[in-house]
Amino acid sequence: MENDYKIETKCIQAGWQPKCGEPRVLPIYQSTTFKYDDSDQMGKLFDLEAEGYFYTRLQNPTNDAVAAKITALEGGVAGMLTSSGQAANYYALFNICEAGDHIVCSNSVYGGTYNLFGTTMKKQGIDCTFVNPDDSYEELCKSIRPNTKAVFAETIANPSIVILDIEKFAKLAHEHGVPLIVDNTFATPINCRPFEWGADIVTHSTTKYMDGHAMAVGGAIIDSGNFDWMAHADKFPGLTTPDESYHGITYASKFGKSAYITKATAQLMRDLGSIPSPMNAFLLNVGLETLHLRVPRHCENAMKVAEFLNGHEKVAWVNYAGLPDNKYHALAEKYMPNGTCGVMAFGIKGDRTTAIRFMDHLKLTAIVTHVADARTCILHPASHTHRQMTEEQLLEAGISPDLMRLSVGIENVDDIIGDLEQALAVI
Ligand SMILES: *Cc1c(COP(=O)(O)O)cnc(C)c1O
Repeated sequence: MENDYKIETKCIQAGWQPKCGEPRVLPIYQSTTFKYDDSDQMGKLFDLEAEGYFYTRLQNPTNDAVAAKITALEGGVAGMLTSSGQAANYYALFNICEAGDHIVCSNSVYGGTYNLFGTTMKKQGIDCTFVNPDDSYEELCKSIRPNTKAVFAETIANPSIVILDIEKFAKLAHEHGVPLIVDNTFATPINCRPFEWGADIVTHSTTKYMDGHAMAVGGAIIDSGNFDWMAHADKFPGLTTPDESYHGITYASKFGKSAYITKATAQLMRDLGSIPSPMNAFLLNVGLETLHLRVPRHCENAMKVAEFLNGHEKVAWVNYAGLPDNKYHALAEKYMPNGTCGVMAFGIKGDRTTAIRFMDHLKLTAIVTHVADARTCILHPASHTHRQMTEEQLLEAGISPDLMRLSVGIENVDDIIGDLEQALAVI
């Protein structure tokens, strides 16, 4: 029944359905542990023979209800929350990769993901090839190796605003027997549901639009249940052969479509422990209830701001896929017909320091290392988030030194434009 509801209804209703006499609002189960009447019941939980809660590092009812809501929004079969978007992307890959394996990733991904895959996971023996997402299918195929285990990209890249050709990437993954994992943070399931285009697993930094109020860092992993692990059993032994650390359970045969999330919970969360606090999951749920109202307003405001900047004489360029002459307009129309997101990139005429002077004159628009919340904010990746990258890596990731990332909020758009206008006037 829940799956038949429209997405707006799911934002409000999915995940928590109280039974008679239970709280109307999702309760915060602020408890590390759960009590049982006899030791056998507890034993069954440890053996994954029965469903239930025993320790919040593995599962917590508040967290699970919110994971179920995001799963419903994405149209998946199973999902889990993590303590951050970084943890979500790490778990999503590490759940199916180990030392000696290889992944393929779009080179325009978020700086934190670029570091995670290019540096930290490399130290764990997992190699990553970064590819230009705009390359032809044939060109992209050259990046695949016999030990490749996944293809990864963002639906809307942060901060270069590259729109992913999801079907091209899904084909790349599936033709080579591996899943496509898509970070859907910027589009949110309101504007794009990657499973409908062939993605197998979706990740989120819920820190952004889902929370929407910049209150709680968090992440999520959702599985479509569509990837057939057993059909590629030799590539994914972690799912298709017995897990000795779990009494010889073979996840893919025992848990079917929820095998991937069950393994990530039972193994990775058990051993690495990046759980969100139930309080943060509660705050995330409050944000999710208005996601379907906020996202369209972000897009509407951003479109007007993009048009304003595009027509301003001091502005050198604007990258917003909503603009008809944008390189990614056609892809955006196909995959996100209702709008992309509130984030855009632009540069003003002058050098790197002109950008910094402009930013310092902004009043309403705050300089923060954040995007995609209710308040309009701005960031200069070359001097902030991406400062560890060389000039060459920056350009490769589609980030010119003058690029400013503007995250348009849901204030009155006249005030946002007025602020940009006065700062442009003084430089
Ligand atoms: C912010 C972000 C992340 C990292 O998420 P955190 O919640 O900050 O750990 C990952 N991917 C994308 C696209 C992001 O915007």
